[in-house]
Amino acid sequence: MTRNGIHHVTAISGPARRNLAFHEGVLGLSLVKKTVNFDDPGTYHFYYGDAAGSPGTILTFFPWEHVAPGRLGVGETQETAFRVPLGSIGYWTHRFVEAGVKHGTPIQTFGETVLPFTDPDGMHLALVGVAGAEAEPGHGVGTIPAEHAIRGFHGVTLLVKEAAPTGAILTDVFGFAQTAQDGVLTRYSTGTAMGGIVTLRAAGDFLRGRQGGGSVHHVAFRAADDAAEAAMVQRLAENHSIRTTEQKDRNYFRSVYFREPGGVLFEIATDIPGFAVDEPADALGRVLKLPAFLEGRRTEIEGILPALS
Ligand code: ZN
Repeated sequence: MTRNGIHHVTAISGPARRNLAFHEGVLGLSLVKKTVNFDDPGTYHFYYGDAAGSPGTILTFFPWEHVAPGRLGVGETQETAFRVPLGSIGYWTHRFVEAGVKHGTPIQTFGETVLPFTDPDGMHLALVGVAGAEAEPGHGVGTIPAEHAIRGFHGVTLLVKEAAPTGAILTDVFGFAQTAQDGVLTRYSTGTAMGGIVTLRAAGDFLRGRQGGGSVHHVAFRAADDAAEAAMVQRLAENHSIRTTEQKDRNYFRSVYFREPGGVLFEIATDIPGFAVDEPADALGRVLKLPAFLEGRRTEIEGILPALS
């Protein structure tokens, strides 16, 4: 079984309540974990995904109540795209109009129908209509029928100076293959449905980005387990002279981080143990979960975190 592709995407947002109202309320993603930033426990860390928080479906946010907007530039993720059935693009266009979501008109990219939109922080998102996605499990949240629900990630588009150096990491370390080229866009795919696509946009000497509200902080790629992660770390060192951080225990996966040659922060995250490690699989995301090393500070942390309702 292949375990390649995107594991999760982590972004920076403004107020927590507004983030929750949009990503759960409007997009119908399931909040599968409500925790804090382990490195900054006065800030929430929200994980959204399919009902189980499967790798390849997980969009996470650090919501800051007072955040300056980011400025998109080279060395950043330009767009994060979700998969929906091709026949659901009309449903979503209608829903965006009704909910006042800023969106563009559907465009064709690499033969696919792409509906671009932004969240309240200006994060660049898109829905990609995929023929056959109606057969992938869909979980309806709120008023969204299961048939139209977001299935998971389609992929990300990264803005880099040139494609080749980043492409070398994708193909040699993460199991992607270059599958298409269209002008400044080069597409890499793992052949798996969820999160199996990375598109590189070669921007040349464009401005570098500035992280802030609406920015993607990092993109995480899948490793089945610790051994698979260690093998990727070794490959990065031996073939690309790239050193990662030490492995960090993120409770729901174990991670290493590195800056890829194009400037984007990459993470490698294990598929194990997953989100049901500290609460029942059928009640994910309902209560604030803290890692063991922060549990003793629960009262203090709950007093600092902003109210969600
Ligand atoms: Zn991460």
